[in-house]
Amino acid sequence: MPTRYCIVGQGVAGIAAAQAIRAADAAGPITLISDDPHGYYSRPGLAYYLTGEIQRGHLFPWREQEFQQLGLHRVLGRAISLNPAEHRLWLANNVPLVYDRLLLATGASAVRPTLPGSDLPQVIKLDNLADADQMLALARRAQSAVVVGGGITALEIVEGLRQHCRRVHYLLRGQRYWSNVLDEAEARLVMQRLAAEGVRIHTHSELAAIEAKRGRVAAVLTTAGQRIACDLVAIAIGVAPRAELAQAAGLAVARGILVDETLRTSDPDIFAAGDVAQVFDPRAGKALLDTLWNSARSHGHTAGQNMAGGALRYVKPMPLNVTRLAGITTTIIGAVGAGRDADLIGIARGDSELWRELGQALVAEEEHEVNRLRLLVGLTTLVGAVLMGDQRLSRPLQRLIGEQIDITPIRSQLLTPDAPLASLLTRFAEGVR
Ligand SMILES: Cc1cc2nc3c(=O)[nH]c(=O)nc-3n(C[C@H](O)[C@H](O)[C@H](O)COP(=O)(O)OP(=O)(O)OC[C@H]3O[C@@H](n4cnc5c(N)ncnc54)[C@H](O)[C@@H]3O)c2cc1C
Repeated sequence: MPTRYCIVGQGVAGIAAAQAIRAADAAGPITLISDDPHGYYSRPGLAYYLTGEIQRGHLFPWREQEFQQLGLHRVLGRAISLNPAEHRLWLANNVPLVYDRLLLATGASAVRPTLPGSDLPQVIKLDNLADADQMLALARRAQSAVVVGGGITALEIVEGLRQHCRRVHYLLRGQRYWSNVLDEAEARLVMQRLAAEGVRIHTHSELAAIEAKRGRVAAVLTTAGQRIACDLVAIAIGVAPRAELAQAAGLAVARGILVDETLRTSDPDIFAAGDVAQVFDPRAGKALLDTLWNSARSHGHTAGQNMAGGALRYVKPMPLNVTRLAGITTTIIGAVGAGRDADLIGIARGDSELWRELGQALVAEEEHEVNRLRLLVGLTTLVGAVLMGDQRLSRPLQRLIGEQIDITPIRSQLLTPDAPLASLLTRFAEGVR
């Protein structure tokens, strides 16, 4: 009897798992369940869809043919309960599904604040394509928008709304943007760029309430007593793993679904992958969350192989994000930050908790206008880097940090004040090719 596979979640983790299962097991039926009517698409791409840089159709990496080639049985619906002892999963229409191996790849969803007015229809978030469509529809009619939150998503929303609304206000609880990943100079570059683009940044401003007029958003009130008139409010204060199904079924859950290095949950036949999984990291000695596209894909790959009988251990790659912050292309790699960001209640999207697991490291920096490089220099290796603007060093840094290459020959030069970091690293990386 072939193994019956079931995957909840049709994001990149679920799809990568389906590919890995099919590569290892040509016969086992795979049921792929998703409550998102738009199926599989690029979530990081939503930012570019909002700014109008890419068309809606470009968000979808697969055509029908690719799904058919894997022989997937796709079901549109929400999984609402799970009985691990019986190997059964129920969908919202009460239809039970029997599985031999199950993957929970349910992703994460935006944390909603509980404030007066926060349930108005013009108070929006950005989790999925339906949210992006709603945001565009509202923004086209809005004069003024307020964005609240931190991390990449808040900034992407600011940039997207700026294309459509006359005025965009950005509220920051503290003094600067994304303070647990970026340092002061990096945050300053981002904020200066936003201000130059006409975004009104309000530091030390916290949302207290949203005022309505005839059932529609009319203004926000801040804890500092300011009233900002607006037609829509976008909130990006972090995300939380969608772990309810696992929790109710009695699986081990902390902030996300706890899994070992094989991506197995506390039940031997149930796996978890992607944003929902809190994966044990041997380097940090604890289980951490990642909200990165590449991490979700490699989780899915490992989980899929193991569901089909493999014994693969997930080796977390050095967390990496190459993204755009206020138009400045930025590579964030390795361990780079510290503390917590007052603008975020949950982890930001495009973030990794490993970024804040900084061991012993010294900082070396170089800056020319919007081009900026910050290195976290460990005893024998680079442990992290933030590269803004000119990206020629992005790949060499990914290699030096990802492969933990010994930098002893240039370490003291890197730590010399005013050292030409970029040229030192370029030459060194070429030498260790
Ligand atoms: C706007 C935005 C910008 C981002 N920017 C970046 C970036 O710059 N860099 C980066 O690396 N990452 C970025 N990310 C994060 C990245 O997209 C995620 O880490 C990745 O998509 C996670 O994949 P996943 O498969 O774990 O979850 P998801 O892609 O969230 O998929 C989970 C799926 O499960 C479905 N589901 C959940 N619960 C149920 C249920 N009970 N029943 C049925 N279906 C269910 C959901 O509808 C969804 O389709 C961004 C994300 C967003 C939204």
